[in-house]
Amino acid sequence: MTHYIGGQPVTSSRPLFANIDPATGQVVSQVHEADADTVDRAVQAARAALQGPWSTFTDGQRAAVLRKVADGIRARFDDFVAAEVRDTGKPVDLAGHLDIPRGAANFDVFADQIAQSATEAFRSPTPDGGTAINYGLRTPRGVIAVICPWNLPLLLMTWKVAPALASGNTVVVKPSEETPSTTTLLAEVMNDAGVPPGVFNVVHGFGPDSAGQYLTEHPGVNGITFTGETRTGTAIMKAAAVGVRPVSFELGGKNAALVFADCDLDAAVAGITRSAFLNSGQVCLGTERIYVERPIFDAFVLRLKEAAQALNPGDPWDEDTNFGPLISQQHRDKVLSYYARARNEGATVVTGGGIPQLPSTLSGGWWVEPTIWTGLPVNSTVLTEEIFGPCCHITPFDREEDAIAAANDTPYGLATSIWTRDVSRAHRVAAAIQVGIAWVNSWFLRDLRTAFGGAKQSGIGREGGVHGLEFYTELRNVCIKL
Ligand code: NAD
Repeated sequence: MTHYIGGQPVTSSRPLFANIDPATGQVVSQVHEADADTVDRAVQAARAALQGPWSTFTDGQRAAVLRKVADGIRARFDDFVAAEVRDTGKPVDLAGHLDIPRGAANFDVFADQIAQSATEAFRSPTPDGGTAINYGLRTPRGVIAVICPWNLPLLLMTWKVAPALASGNTVVVKPSEETPSTTTLLAEVMNDAGVPPGVFNVVHGFGPDSAGQYLTEHPGVNGITFTGETRTGTAIMKAAAVGVRPVSFELGGKNAALVFADCDLDAAVAGITRSAFLNSGQVCLGTERIYVERPIFDAFVLRLKEAAQALNPGDPWDEDTNFGPLISQQHRDKVLSYYARARNEGATVVTGGGIPQLPSTLSGGWWVEPTIWTGLPVNSTVLTEEIFGPCCHITPFDREEDAIAAANDTPYGLATSIWTRDVSRAHRVAAAIQVGIAWVNSWFLRDLRTAFGGAKQSGIGREGGVHGLEFYTELRNVCIKL
């Protein structure tokens, strides 16, 4: 698999690296790794494209191109699904119903957004008794570096690329080394849709001493949008400090669900089963801490255990499979180390805790069991660190304020879900929990026009709707004295 620079596939001189199917452990392709020169070439192509035909496109013309990109993804739907399933091992049903359709929809959403965006205007008195008109003029920021994770590769990448291009920027994208394929396919779709050469560039590789570091340190980059671990965000922020370049960060989480005794228990169990185990727990919004009001604690634990045990791990190409592997051997080692720590710290293992028995064709993959714990104290490792696997801990609580305090007792602040039939409590708790996204009686229910992002160490800035424009444009105030 090659890089994609200035509208062309490009190779580089470093040794290729293997792209592995996490469901089987088999190598599926070899990928070029960008060196500093290749990254420089991509940034120069993106800079040159800022001066090219792209700069003459009106908002409406860019919106029309983005809609063609969305249609282009849909036209090659099966290719995109196959690539995502091979790269991630996720079930074909999930890739076909979430990753690829949402990846395409992101282009439609931001095409609509740019076609409708307006800026502020003020009529103001001047000291000499006259009048001035002030208005906001949004201009593209320039070359945007887009650094992506592996858990929802196309979806999260297009969530950044679509608003960046809608606003008239050019981009250099570095997908995760674990999931290079759908970004490469998107480059072909961009070409076919009439995106001018150099507007969308792709470089492959790793983070430190590789494409990620070279790209974020490149002085020709005007802004960096990143989704990934908080620790990586810290390194990228240091790189961005040189040249005082802005960052937009979607980082890690340690999300809590609060389940009150008056909730619809069926809905709470179904929603939290999704939030803990969808994509094998590799969702930034996922729930790893659950707080349940004591009268329904035992019933909830039993119901969630039954739901976890009913999940169906297996061949990702089987439509009935709803539970896939972890992304890599390294990540499985990390998740299994938390499974061991939970046991060592005295957890009651309600279900799971190990590696599932699967057919021999899948035995080389990076599988773990969905796992539920109870009985750990608040300061235990699995209650404080992000694991990013299919596991959660359930703690009972007696008072609303105790549950809120426990939920907030973390440096992270991405998302929460609150399960109650009491409307006043729903509003009260949603206002009290320190997060960017609070769901009531639901989880991962998204209107793409709304703000998306994390509080505390879960991020900087908001993506989605008009909020993304803050990062992808410079807002100039023009003051005209009449
Ligand atoms: P990661 O931080 O390890 O890697 C993300 C990307 O950064 C990869 O492309 C990687 O190559 C690159 N990278 C690594 N080090 C770098 C460096 N020094 N300079 C530049 N680039 C570098 O994250 P991951 O393991 O791919 O993804 C999982 C993490 O992402 C979890 O913490 C999860 O919570 C988070 N995440 C957050 C959101 C959100 O919206 N808040 C969404 C998805 C995932």
